[in-house]
Amino acid sequence: MTDNRDLPVLYLVIPCYNEEEVLPETTKRLTEKMIGMIRSEFIHADSRILFVDDGSRDQTWALIEEYSEAIPFVDGVKLAHNRGHQNALLAGLMTAMPLCDCAISMDADLQDDTDAIDRFVEKYKEGCDVVYGVRNKRDTDTVFKRTTAEGFYKFMKVLGVDVVFNHADYRLMSRRALEGLSEYKEVNLFLRGIVPLIGYRSDYVYYDRAERFAGESKYPLRKMLSFAFDGISSFSVKPLKMISNLGILISVLSIFGLLYALISHICGVTVAGWTAIVCSIWLLGGLQMLCLGVVGAYIGKIYSEVKQRPRYLIETHLKKKDEE
Ligand code: UDP
Ligand code: MG
Repeated sequence: MTDNRDLPVLYLVIPCYNEEEVLPETTKRLTEKMIGMIRSEFIHADSRILFVDDGSRDQTWALIEEYSEAIPFVDGVKLAHNRGHQNALLAGLMTAMPLCDCAISMDADLQDDTDAIDRFVEKYKEGCDVVYGVRNKRDTDTVFKRTTAEGFYKFMKVLGVDVVFNHADYRLMSRRALEGLSEYKEVNLFLRGIVPLIGYRSDYVYYDRAERFAGESKYPLRKMLSFAFDGISSFSVKPLKMISNLGILISVLSIFGLLYALISHICGVTVAGWTAIVCSIWLLGGLQMLCLGVVGAYIGKIYSEVKQRPRYLIETHLKKKDEE
């Protein structure tokens, strides 16, 4: 099937984990939005809202089932376990892939502005394959969340990971971008890092992020930290290089330590045995760190091989035969 850019089949993919408090309102707003877009022939009538229940323990799945019976374009997927936001999102996107022309991922809690959906689709119609939703400002976040989140984006840049500043997971992907994504087989998913690697034409849509409509954040600090660490360790082997550099630094310093210890020894201001101990501590410490770094370098290589990421995705093929 070729891309249908004029009247695309749009899937809204929404991961939900214990979201019974927000789901009624979310469904109401999104349903209105979908009806509007379908009536005005902005999107195809086969478009759907796809809820992904990430192993919720409350009434979330019951609600999804109820809505999907009552509303023709509401669909649901249930995961067997709570696998976390990123995996739930991927499950939804992969389910939507063969059925849609483009899919927008968004949170269930109405923090992502539903009015921005039109702008995403417009960019898609203009020929973009990936459209990133970027937050205008972060004044709905606590100071703590804001500083840690912005610090995280900056730190990722320093480590050489290509992430879009202030973009979370509110984004549109075309079907071929989704097919690209499906080639990334890694287990430690950090979609924000992977999507820019896919390439294709992309653009941004700016929106104001609202407050969570109801309920509590499903991302407590513990999950946030582990998400951040996953993001870094899945995309950068720089921490391993840092160990090598630290080893080199300590080895060089140990030479000065050695000189100092020898001079002290010659001047006779030391206790017997001190020189030998101090010298060996410094030198061995540095060498150990250096060796760890070398081992780390190889682990880094294994790590990138094991991931078996696709080495390229072909964007256009001028004389491609249909059935190739
Ligand atoms: N979520 C999920 N599985 C989880 C945690 C969260 O599917 O294990 C979903 C959640 O239902 C919501 C989205 O991920 O739709 C973002 O979570 P939340 O709004 O709690 O995060 P925050 O906005 O506070 O960062
Ligand atoms: Mg939220």
